[in-house]
Amino acid sequence: MLLELTNDSRYISSMFTGEKGKVSLPVMGQAQAPRKRRHPNWIKVQMPTKPTYFELKKRVEELELHTVCASASCPNIGECWSRRALTIMILGDICTRSCRFCDVATGRPLPADPDEPKRVATMLSELDLEHTVITCVDRDDLADGGAAHWAETITQVKAASPNMTLEVLTGDFKGNTDDVDTVLAANPDVFSHNLETVPRLSRQVRVQASYPRSYKILEHVRNRDAVTKTGLMLGLGEEMDEVREVIEQLAEMRVDILTLGQYLQPSKKHMPIARYVEPEEFVELAEFAKQCGIERTEAGPLVRSSYHADGQAQMIRDIRRTRTVS
Ligand code: SF4
Repeated sequence: MLLELTNDSRYISSMFTGEKGKVSLPVMGQAQAPRKRRHPNWIKVQMPTKPTYFELKKRVEELELHTVCASASCPNIGECWSRRALTIMILGDICTRSCRFCDVATGRPLPADPDEPKRVATMLSELDLEHTVITCVDRDDLADGGAAHWAETITQVKAASPNMTLEVLTGDFKGNTDDVDTVLAANPDVFSHNLETVPRLSRQVRVQASYPRSYKILEHVRNRDAVTKTGLMLGLGEEMDEVREVIEQLAEMRVDILTLGQYLQPSKKHMPIARYVEPEEFVELAEFAKQCGIERTEAGPLVRSSYHADGQAQMIRDIRRTRTVS
C-alpha cells in the first residue's frame, strides 16, 4: 500500500513507530493530527504492513538498539524495514549537535554503552544481510568523538557477519583525522560522511559543522584508498549550479558514491522545504555526476544515504579489489 506524504514526515513516521515505540497505525474515525500541505504526487511511501517490518521492530527493541530510520523519522521506514534493510545508529540516541534538518534528539548523551557493539553484531548476523549501513549520533562530548566505539563495533560486526559489506556513516570528528584513522583501521567497506547541503547554506543547515572540515574528512578518507561516499539533500534553497559545483569538487576528490535526495521537513520546528526538486532534475544531476567521473550516484526524491545501499554491495567489493586500504 502506497501512502501520500504531507509536509510533516514526523507525523507519517509516528504512525509507523508510535510515540513510545508502540506501533500506532491510524484508525478510521480516530482523531488525528491536522493534515498539512501535501507533497507532490511523486513522493509516496509504503505503509509498513508486512510481518517483516514488525519482526524487525520487535528485535530492535529487544536488543535495546537505536535506528536512524525511527529516530530521524525517515519516510522510507515502511519500505526499508519490510525488506530487512535498516540503519542502526550507535552511541545512543541523543546527539550533541542541533542540525536544523534532523529529527534526532539533541542534548547531553549517556556514556557510550560498551555492550552495544556486541548487540549490533548480534542483530546484523541474525538478519544475514548482504550489505548494511551503521551510523551514529555526533558525540562532541567524547575526546575521540566515539572513534574507539566505532572501531569496536566494526570489528565485532565484521567478525559476526564476514560476508556482509559494511558501510559506516559518520560525523566529522571535528576534523580530527586521527579519529578517522581509528575507524578506518577497523576496515569498514565504505566510509561515508554527508555534506548535507551546498556551502552557502551549510551554516544554516548544519549549525556546528563546516564545509572545509567535511571536505577534509572526505579527502583524507579517499587518500587512504577507502571507498568514499557522501550525500546531499536538495530542496533547502540551493541553486542547481551550486549543486553542480559541489559535484565537480567531489569528482576532483575522487569520491566514489554520491546520494541526492529531496529534503522533507520532519516537523514545523525544522527548516522549511524551499522547493520540491522534480524527478527529472535528479536524473539530470545523476547524469552530470557520471560525466564528472563519480562512479555511482543514487538520486531521487526519496533517496537517503542509506536508501537501497544494499544494491551497491557488489560494486563496493569490485572497487575494494582494486585498492589497498592503508
Ligand atoms: S532510507 Fe535509510 S534511514 Fe531511511 S528507513 Fe531506509 S535504511 Fe532507514
